[in-house]
Amino acid sequence: MRHERVCLELVGTVRGRLGEPSDDLADPVSLAGWLARRGLRPTEEPDAAHVTGFRALREASYRLLVAVTGGGAPRPDDVALVNRRAAHPAPAVSLVDTPGGGLRREVAVPTPEQALAVVARDLVDLVGGPDLVRLHQCEADVCGTFFVDTSRAGSRRWCSSATCGNRARVAAHRGRAAQP
Ligand SMILES: [Zn+2]
Repeated sequence: MRHERVCLELVGTVRGRLGEPSDDLADPVSLAGWLARRGLRPTEEPDAAHVTGFRALREASYRLLVAVTGGGAPRPDDVALVNRRAAHPAPAVSLVDTPGGGLRREVAVPTPEQALAVVARDLVDLVGGPDLVRLHQCEADVCGTFFVDTSRAGSRRWCSSATCGNRARVAAHRGRAAQP
């Protein structure tokens, strides 16, 4: 599913993390497609080393998110990895003319290292910024997905009410129906 933050989208490329996980970034082709869908198609085709780099950032990010949402102290090596990636310069941004006479923001095509930097910087902004209080992990047993609860009430429990939320409601209904 789509999240509003690219760092959470990266973490979400492991599906069913707490059950039987499957990895959406298993190979360079998958990584290339994932980057392209987020406007981060890099200057060169991703290779196996880039896959390793993204997966390492993803797992460090996941452990950090668990830690900062109440799961204990962050691991120093995870913080160091995120910081190292975030320290890399991000792609240049510029204003370019539009045919209608206005201006629009354009982001330069990133190198694979710059694409990693975009994701790492987003994680730094999330963990070190005002959205942290709205960061939650999906309550479904096997899911493990993190999301930022932007609902006014702040009472969102699932990454998606259509999938995890629906399954939980069905299970709760069955539980009630089974009682004598
Ligand atoms: Zn979920």
